[in-house]
Amino acid sequence: MEKLKQSIFNIIFYIFIIALILGLVFLLIFAIMKLNVYAYEKPSPEEICILIDPGHGAEDGGAVSDDGVVEKGINLSISNHLKEYLELSGFRVEMTRDDDNIMGDRNLPTLKERLRDDMRKRLDLYNSEQIDYVISIHQNKFTESKYSGAQVFYSPNDERSEVLADYMRKSITGFLQPENTREITKAGSNIYLLNNCSNPCILVECGFLSNPEETALLKTEEYQKQMAFTIYCGMLDYIKNN
Ligand SMILES: [Zn+2]
Repeated sequence: MEKLKQSIFNIIFYIFIIALILGLVFLLIFAIMKLNVYAYEKPSPEEICILIDPGHGAEDGGAVSDDGVVEKGINLSISNHLKEYLELSGFRVEMTRDDDNIMGDRNLPTLKERLRDDMRKRLDLYNSEQIDYVISIHQNKFTESKYSGAQVFYSPNDERSEVLADYMRKSITGFLQPENTREITKAGSNIYLLNNCSNPCILVECGFLSNPEETALLKTEEYQKQMAFTIYCGMLDYIKNN
């Protein structure tokens, strides 16, 4: 009788051990599958290519402040710092320009033709399959000097653009401009590149060159770095949460 009890106990014990091992194996398989799904949903920074477009360039200076500060230089400086921060985090970065130039053919006879060619070439890059996100950097100007602060526009063609724009707005108001209440805005046909971009795409108007106080900030390298870092943080937040 004692022997029978012992055998039954042994059988139950082994069944328990086998069930435990099977349970652990299933748990391990499940964990590995979960990890794979995670890896699929969240590409590493090296797999993400961000195009930065510093607006204007060369003979197209963009907006000019009353004291002669030209938009194209501020755009380029902020973009170069943004590129540096993104690359330090492992992202791949492309630029439409990394010096005082445009993409348009400089040998075309008229400025109009050169700028049209420039827009066409920038748009080709915006829509490249190699590009995951586009960030265009500009400065604003208005007839009245009282307006200041950044504003983010988004392309209407991919719904991720609006989401990214909102992360960017939150980063700018959170880090740099807590008093800025400007909403994100869907780009219309007046913003050609955003309106025709098929990739997720935003445009950041970093500040107003018609506002003397903001212009004084925008022309310093320190503020340009702060703005670039704020845009970088907005991009990181978006990537982390989407
Ligand atoms: Zn501009």
